[in-house]
Amino acid sequence: MTDIIRLLPDSVANQIAAGEVVQRPASAVKELLENTIDAGATEIKLIIKESGKLLIQVIDNGCGMSERDARMCFERHATSKIAKADDLLAIRTLGFRGEALASIASIAQVDLKSKRNEDEIGTSILIEGTEFKGQFPVNCQNGTSVTVKNLFFNVPARRNFLKSNTLELKYIIEEFFRITLVNPDIAFTFYNQDKILYQLPPGNLKQRIIKLYGPAYSQRLIPVEQQTPLVNIAGFIGKPEFAKKTRGEQFFFTNGRFMKSPYLHHAVENAFKELIPDDSVPSYFIYMEVDPQTIDVNIHPTKTEINFQDIKSIYAILHAAVKQSIGKFNISPTLDFEAEQSMNIPQFPDNYPIKQPTITINPNYNPFEKRIEPQTKFTFSPKPAPSAQGWQDFYAPVPANAEKLEFPKTDRELDGLKNQQLADETFSERKRSFQVANSYIVTHTHSGVIVIDQQHAHERILYERMLQKSEVNDMAGQHQLIPQTITLSPDNAQFLLEWMDYFTELGFEINAFGKGSFVVQAIPMNMETANIGVFIESVLESLKSPGKENKMNQSLTLAKTLAKKLSIKRGKRLHQQEIDSMIENLFACMIPDTSPDGKPTMVIQSFEELNRKLKI
Ligand code: ADP
Ligand code: MG
Repeated sequence: MTDIIRLLPDSVANQIAAGEVVQRPASAVKELLENTIDAGATEIKLIIKESGKLLIQVIDNGCGMSERDARMCFERHATSKIAKADDLLAIRTLGFRGEALASIASIAQVDLKSKRNEDEIGTSILIEGTEFKGQFPVNCQNGTSVTVKNLFFNVPARRNFLKSNTLELKYIIEEFFRITLVNPDIAFTFYNQDKILYQLPPGNLKQRIIKLYGPAYSQRLIPVEQQTPLVNIAGFIGKPEFAKKTRGEQFFFTNGRFMKSPYLHHAVENAFKELIPDDSVPSYFIYMEVDPQTIDVNIHPTKTEINFQDIKSIYAILHAAVKQSIGKFNISPTLDFEAEQSMNIPQFPDNYPIKQPTITINPNYNPFEKRIEPQTKFTFSPKPAPSAQGWQDFYAPVPANAEKLEFPKTDRELDGLKNQQLADETFSERKRSFQVANSYIVTHTHSGVIVIDQQHAHERILYERMLQKSEVNDMAGQHQLIPQTITLSPDNAQFLLEWMDYFTELGFEINAFGKGSFVVQAIPMNMETANIGVFIESVLESLKSPGKENKMNQSLTLAKTLAKKLSIKRGKRLHQQEIDSMIENLFACMIPDTSPDGKPTMVIQSFEELNRKLKI
């Protein structure tokens, strides 16, 4: 038998690669824009026609290319950005695989013009489906212009696969946003069908967001900032009241690269917990800088995931940073837990020895070969130095003896640990709790003094109890009555019928008798039995009041309304036993630090802070 294996011609290999790199016009736009950034351009124009299917042109004033480079750049694996495997570990440029131009040129008609500052004359290269069509000297500006015409002209199957112009344009705009949001100091102009779609002057990040999303955003953004040895975080979050139902204004960038991370998304979302309706998502523009050696650089060209070595710590830092910003801008309670603070501001002692990451490299790893899983495994081990207590202590609100603990996976676990610790501390000193001004409960832990607002605290306790009941459908939480008949106005009667399921879920048993009459057979525990009719009517009235609450899960809304109505109010004197059980029940809650409305239930003053204030 004759040998049957042969090398693929370049044109075929490039087309195969193009399938990965360029799936649609938007991917070509992304690659071309990234090249301009890597080339150090300060002014970039993007011109498209027919959503990029007919024409994509990107013009920059970057470093330009020599005559040889202009020819070379279309070769597969031709890149100026890395020379050896080691360089991969310190990648700061967006591209590095040297595949984009080769891929684009294999499936389109490309005209490249480029000139370096130091050259008198530029070079123009024409190439079509990998086939070299010509090279000419041209008179052109410093920088590079790449014109890509008739994308997929030679791969009809892929061309047919493209979506409508509207959708393809949407994808392009998405890529444009991802690039422009991370380069606010660069001027961009985006022409679609000869009209300017976006004109972005250089500016700061906030100005860039406003230019992209409109002037209304100037009132909507809250800055986020946190610097730690592991990660520096900067950027903006949207105020909770502007949270949207649609995803799309959520951006993470790591070392100048757009990234998707459901895990870190959760960290941000969690920080907004109970501040925005369940079906809404917060906006955020978050920029993280990490040591390039602590992220996986073997990124697939079209993939937007990044592997971090210590994602859990980054989760905790990000969550704390966002929460802190929300608190600082007084739109939510600041969580003044001492434990929370040590999580919020992971200040390292001056002499804290930061351990250098250790890296093991597989010298045989070739990032350009397909189907080879990245074998470059980092063994970054932020082992605590004997003098320090380890990373957990800096980031996680866990007791000092918790080094053996697994780092909590979820926020809930974090909260759980925090509450447990606080509760443990609180009970040991329980006897010393007392009420002040018939409104506040004062108690203390080993680490500070706590002042609790009895009304907010009780709202929280009732709210969580009701939700628990609805989860387990615990009928024991009901209070059976001698049936009471109530009569409601026609519209309230109708309204109650609409909400009946949720009332039932929370422990009510109400039967309709027609003509606005209802018989109440049972009510949730803790509810006073006098004036049930008036009470239900007042609950219905509150439910009617418009506002974002009504968009929330209805059973949460009802539980919240009931908790507010039923709670012990400020001004009510409490007995010692009530004080103690209030504290105990509050710290048994999932989220003891805020009322169901997101208002603080307590203020904690750490002894440390007291000492500082008292100049002790
Ligand atoms: P990569 O970006 O991965 O290196 P590309 O195929 O995108 O690969 O580009 C190949 C090379 O061409 C780059 O490394 C760079 O040297 C050069 N190049 C591409 N676009 C430009 C540009 N707009 N300005 C200057 N040089 C460019
Ligand atoms: Mg590139």
